[in-house]
Amino acid sequence: MTTGFDIVIVGAGHGGAQAAIALRRQKFAGSIAIVGEEPEFPYERPPLSKEYLAGEKNFDRILIRPVDFWRDRAVTMLLGKRVVEIDPAAHVLRSADGETIAYGKLIWAATSGIHVDPADVARAGIPLKELAAALAPDS
Ligand SMILES: Cc1cc2nc3c(=O)[nH]c(=O)nc-3n(C[C@H](O)[C@H](O)[C@H](O)COP(=O)(O)OP(=O)(O)OC[C@H]3O[C@@H](n4cnc5c(N)ncnc54)[C@H](O)[C@@H]3O)c2cc1C
Repeated sequence: MTTGFDIVIVGAGHGGAQAAIALRRQKFAGSIAIVGEEPEFPYERPPLSKEYLAGEKNFDRILIRPVDFWRDRAVTMLLGKRVVEIDPAAHVLRSADGETIAYGKLIWAATSGIHVDPADVARAGIPLKELAAALAPDS
């Protein structure tokens, strides 16, 4: 299946969400889609490891915007989709589930790919105090 949007934002984290919010604030009237690998609507990371895990806030309260916000501003959320290929000449990208998405402009907001999750670090058996040394290029 092929769909198309004026602007496609890859990454439904803080960066991707704020890009879409800013576009609508600036009165951009074209179509916008956010493609995100995670199934959740964009949420705040800092309270995830704090108030949310402590049971002080439910998940809805750590969303960057309520679910209705995105519908009301005509931002299409394509969640649970991992982008695996971009063809910049043809202005299309492909997701792991085989969808082809055409774009006028692409905003890459999927971070650099360098991501340190404390849980992964713990699973790898690296004490956090030794993390910097473990990540050093010559180690
Ligand atoms: C548990 C936790 C707690 C944190 N606490 C703090 C804090 O207290 N203070 C602070 O300053 N910072 C904190 N951070 C860091 C802060 O949240 C990040 O700096 C911020 O989230 C970066 O935003 P981003 O949108 O650039 O990237 P991200 O939030 O990483 O969002 C990128 C999104 O892109 C998606 N993605 C990646 N590749 C693809 C692909 N190929 N296709 C589709 N989607 C893709 C990812 O799944 C992710 O949802 C914390 C981070 C975590 C994980």
